[in-house]
Amino acid sequence: MLKNEVRGIDQRILGILEEDGIESFYPPQREALPLCLEGKHLVLSVPTAAGKSLVAYVGIVQKLLREGGKALYIVPLKALAREKYEELSRFKKVGLKVGISTGDLTRSDPRLARYDIIVCTSEKADSLIRHQASWLWKVNILVVDEIHLLNDPGRGPTLEVVISRMRRINPDLQIIALSATIRNAEDIANWLDAELVKSDWRPVKLKEGVYYRGIIEFSDGSIKSVGTKPDPIQALVRDCLEDGGQVLIFVNTRKSSQSLALKLRDLVKNYIENEREKLEKIADDILSLSEEPTSMDEDLSRCVKEGVAFHHAGLSSESRKIVENSFRERIIKCLVATPTLAAGVNIPARRVIIRDLWRYEVGLGMQPIPVLEYKQQAGRAGRPKYDTEGEAITIAKDKEQRRRIISNYILAEPEPIYSKLGVEPTLRFHILSSIACGFTPDMESLMDFFSSTFYAYQSDIELLSDSIDRTIKFLSENDFIEIYDGRLKATLFGVKTTKLYLDPLTALQLRRVIERIPFGGGSEISYLQAICYTPDMRSLYMRESDTWVEENLEQIKKYIFTEIPPLYSSDYEIFLSSLKTAYLLNDWIEEVPEKKICDKYGVGPGDIRNIVETAEWLVHSMRELARIYRFDLTKELNDLVLRIRYGCRKELLNLVQLKGIGRVRARALYNAGFHTVNSLRGVPLERIASIPSIGKKIAVSIKRQLGELKER
Ligand code: ADP
Repeated sequence: MLKNEVRGIDQRILGILEEDGIESFYPPQREALPLCLEGKHLVLSVPTAAGKSLVAYVGIVQKLLREGGKALYIVPLKALAREKYEELSRFKKVGLKVGISTGDLTRSDPRLARYDIIVCTSEKADSLIRHQASWLWKVNILVVDEIHLLNDPGRGPTLEVVISRMRRINPDLQIIALSATIRNAEDIANWLDAELVKSDWRPVKLKEGVYYRGIIEFSDGSIKSVGTKPDPIQALVRDCLEDGGQVLIFVNTRKSSQSLALKLRDLVKNYIENEREKLEKIADDILSLSEEPTSMDEDLSRCVKEGVAFHHAGLSSESRKIVENSFRERIIKCLVATPTLAAGVNIPARRVIIRDLWRYEVGLGMQPIPVLEYKQQAGRAGRPKYDTEGEAITIAKDKEQRRRIISNYILAEPEPIYSKLGVEPTLRFHILSSIACGFTPDMESLMDFFSSTFYAYQSDIELLSDSIDRTIKFLSENDFIEIYDGRLKATLFGVKTTKLYLDPLTALQLRRVIERIPFGGGSEISYLQAICYTPDMRSLYMRESDTWVEENLEQIKKYIFTEIPPLYSSDYEIFLSSLKTAYLLNDWIEEVPEKKICDKYGVGPGDIRNIVETAEWLVHSMRELARIYRFDLTKELNDLVLRIRYGCRKELLNLVQLKGIGRVRARALYNAGFHTVNSLRGVPLERIASIPSIGKKIAVSIKRQLGELKER
């Protein structure tokens, strides 16, 4: 049956789809697949879970089987890259090699050349272009997932530049762009000279409703009474669980997600049936998975035991993954999440409750969330195979609010999206890379490149010319580029900045600090504060209780090599934030327990990982710049990179090279008298196993790594 629906699909592809239980194509797929197979550019704008990815998979595999070449699949988030990579790996059977690349933006990753399909984030794609990976010239099909993120001030410009650049690198490139339902999908299609398939079709019907005084009123006119006791959220959760469904609740802060999940335990536990044992195990896994469980992990574990969980960016990625999988397997019944979940991996539930239609925005106060975001959250309602329909419910406090929710959200169309390329920090980042890679050796070619962007499609490129001129001036005045006879050429500093994936302003600040540090070197806090003060680090906010940061400043002033802004200026606050973040990193490399760091700085393990990852990149970059300007600093910067990566003092750097040995276990070994990997050779297994926090399993793993026990 599947075979006859869309002509020309390779039998081997159909075979794999059939094995996956696909019996027939969804209507938008029937419309989009023929266009895609004809080699047309395509914009597919349909709701989440309406089968967009499948169109891209078929398009890629068919093209590569027929013509050879390579496919690049761009997604916005690392977690999504993993999801797509796993799904695409199904097609290895037809002889295609699938690879994934999301990490280190400072390297060219030559191993990628051996794959036919490469999944990566938009930043990684940009970095691969900057490193001029040779295989990019062979890419003949480009998939851009979530292309509506062109609208996102953070990710959008990079996405736009990558697409425009890839089209120039390979003019025969076929583009398949996947988008949420947005108002001006036509604009994207016109920009890309693509066919547009736009539809509201969903595999599971969606009912959107408003709860008011115990009654849900749905947009299709139906009504359901769920009561008001003990409060609206609990009444809505109970009603759905009673019917055997799962509930996903969106709230606007991490704190609320935790407190609400904790509160819901008493209710949700009544709906656990045969899952009790599994829940106990998952709760244990959450605590045992990290060397150092934090109080956030403990809260999560307590919740999971009762069938409810919370999900936000402060959790470690391992904990998030456990929660996502257990919800998908229907072991966890109710999940309270921040909106990042709606933009990430696919986790549907029968009922979605959108508790907060307002959100705090820095500088603006509480703001209504965009319709696009509401629709993305609502769109998570309805699980294919388990639910015949999904329900997305908001809560109104009064009649007026109910009316406004209906007209401003339920019946409203998502906002149109606009390019965010036209701001100077973004321009300096992309203009430098374009010059450093030799793509635009003069002003004319630079303007020509910008005239192929989505920005230029939507507005007049002339509007950018002043900003571009100012950016060129900045780059040349600060030695990133040289202008000679009308030619634009990057200096060594400019090329390094581009390859390290740094904002030029970051590179400039790092260079200045490197030049100022006295001979003999700085202290750790000098380097850490310098990297935290750059635009590439997202520093921690200063809270009222953080007065200690300023109090410490006096004592450490002599170690600070960035400018200290005048007291009470707005930059002063940013400076203090950088110092606070530097202290967090300093605690991390001094082996302060993660739990303590979380409490002191008001962060979660996921935040620590993010800061650590960024810090490692920036100190690595500082070392690379020191190779040009201050070779004498490279050794201590090298040690600092490793200390940041492992979160430990210098003396543990040898032990942490062992797999399964993080900073806690390394410290335990060290304290027991084993200071290096070599010192563990010939030591009886039982002796190692008896060291606190090591145990038999880890001891066996150490012995295997030393080659003293055979690998299983
Ligand atoms: P999107 O990319 O639009 O969010 P996906 O392509 O990831 O959606 O599809 C969501 C889920 O639906 C996946 O589990 C996928 O296997 C399944 N799916 C896609 N197309 C079909 C189909 N024609 N029949 C049955 N299931 C399908």
